[in-house]
Amino acid sequence: MQYDRILIRYGEISTKKRNRGKFVEKLKKGIKYALAGHPSIEIDAERDRMHILLNGAPSEPVIEKVRKVFGIHSLSPAIRTERDIPAMKEAAFTLMKSFYTEGKTFKITAKRSDKTFELDTDGINQLFGAFILTSFPGITVNVRKPDINLQIEVRKEAVYLSCETIRGAGGLPIGTGGKAMLMLSGGIDSPVAGYLAMKRGVELEAIHFHSPPFTSERAKQKVIDLAEKLSEVSGSILLHIVPFTEVQQAIKAQIPENYSMTATRRSMLRIADQIRKKQGGLAIITGESLGQVASQTLESMYAINDVTNTPVLRPLISMDKTEIIEVATELGTYDISILPYEDCCTIFVPSSPKTKPKKDKVLYYESFLEFEPIEASAVEGTETIRITPGYSSKTVGMDNLF
Ligand code: ATP
Ligand code: MG
Repeated sequence: MQYDRILIRYGEISTKKRNRGKFVEKLKKGIKYALAGHPSIEIDAERDRMHILLNGAPSEPVIEKVRKVFGIHSLSPAIRTERDIPAMKEAAFTLMKSFYTEGKTFKITAKRSDKTFELDTDGINQLFGAFILTSFPGITVNVRKPDINLQIEVRKEAVYLSCETIRGAGGLPIGTGGKAMLMLSGGIDSPVAGYLAMKRGVELEAIHFHSPPFTSERAKQKVIDLAEKLSEVSGSILLHIVPFTEVQQAIKAQIPENYSMTATRRSMLRIADQIRKKQGGLAIITGESLGQVASQTLESMYAINDVTNTPVLRPLISMDKTEIIEVATELGTYDISILPYEDCCTIFVPSSPKTKPKKDKVLYYESFLEFEPIEASAVEGTETIRITPGYSSKTVGMDNLF
C-alpha cells in the first residue's frame, strides 16, 4: 500500500498547553533527525498533530524509525483525499482492499472535525459501511472487535483515511525536560537509566570514570559504543571521560578496604557534580536499582548521596534485573554491556564491600586524605567527546572542553 502520509498523534504533550510550542518544535526536530536518511520527507506540524508527508517514500521503514521517537502517542499511515464522496469511496476501497482477506470483519470510525461537511459522523459511518459491505462480498461488521477499523477523518483541508493505529514510544520529546548528567559505566544498567531519562524529555550528557592503565582502551571503547547507542535515540551526546586512576590509588592506599567502595562512589559523585555544574546540568542520573549489589542498599545510597544536594535520579530503582535486561536488549546496549572488559570499579573494589556503611565512619576515613586537589585534577584532565550515530566508524568530533 502506497500511503501519502503518516499521522502523528501527540502523547502527553497535548495536555501541556502552555509549553506546546516548544514540545511540537522538539518533537519535530526528533522526527527530522530520525528520518535524516529519507530526504524526500516533509513534516507538517500543527498544534494538535503532525503529518509526515512521504512524497513517494515507502511507509514501513519510516514508521519503524518514527515509532521510537519520544513524545508520540500513536501513528497511522494514511491516504489523503479531497472532501468529495466519490473520491473518498475510491480511497476507502483501495485501502480496504489491502487489508481485507476472507472472513475478516470491519467497522467504520468516522470523525468530523469540520462541521460544515455535508454528512455528519453517523451519516459517514452509514454511507461507508454500506459501501464496504457491497464492495466486499462476505465481509461482516463487528463494531466491538473489528479486524479492520477504517478510520475516516474529515478535516477542513482534506479527508484522511487509515486502517492502522500503531502505538508510539510515548514519553516526552527529548530536550523539553532540561539537561542531566548520566553516570555511564560499562554495565547493563546505566545505559538503560539514561534511555528512560530521555524518555521523560531529558537531554543527557554522559560521564565515565576510567583508570588507565588498570582499565583498558577496550573498556573505554565499550563505553563509547554504549554512548553511541544512546546517541541513536537523541541525535548526539557529549561523553566526558574522567581520568580516575589517581583517586582510586589514593583510596586504595588510605581507606580501609571495606570502606573503599563507599569512598570511591562518593568521589565519583563529587566529580560528576563538578562537571554537571560546569555544563549547566540540573541532575545526576545513575543506573542504581535498590538492593542489587552492595553499593545499592539504602544505607549505601544514604552514605554516598551525602556529598551533594543535586538531585540524583535513579530511573531503575524499583526494576528487577530481568526487566532491565529486556529494555537493554530492545535498546541494543545489552550485547555491548556484556562484553568482558572491566571497568574501574571491578578492578579496585574489594570482593566484600560493606553493605551498610556508616556515614560517620566514611567521613572519618576520608579525613586522612586530601581529595580536593586530586579530584580537581581529574576534572581538569577530563576528555570530552561529542558522539553521534556512527561515531566509531567516523572518528570525528574530538574536543576538550576543560
Ligand atoms: P551498571 O550496570 O550501570 O554498571 P551496576 O549494577 O554494575 O550498574 P554499580 O557498579 O554499583 O552497579 O554502579 C552503580 C551506578 O554507578 C552505575 O549504574 C553507574 O550509574 C555508576 N557507575 C559505576 N561505575 C561507573 C563508572 N566507571 N563511570 C561512571 N559511572 C559509573
Ligand atoms: Mg557496573
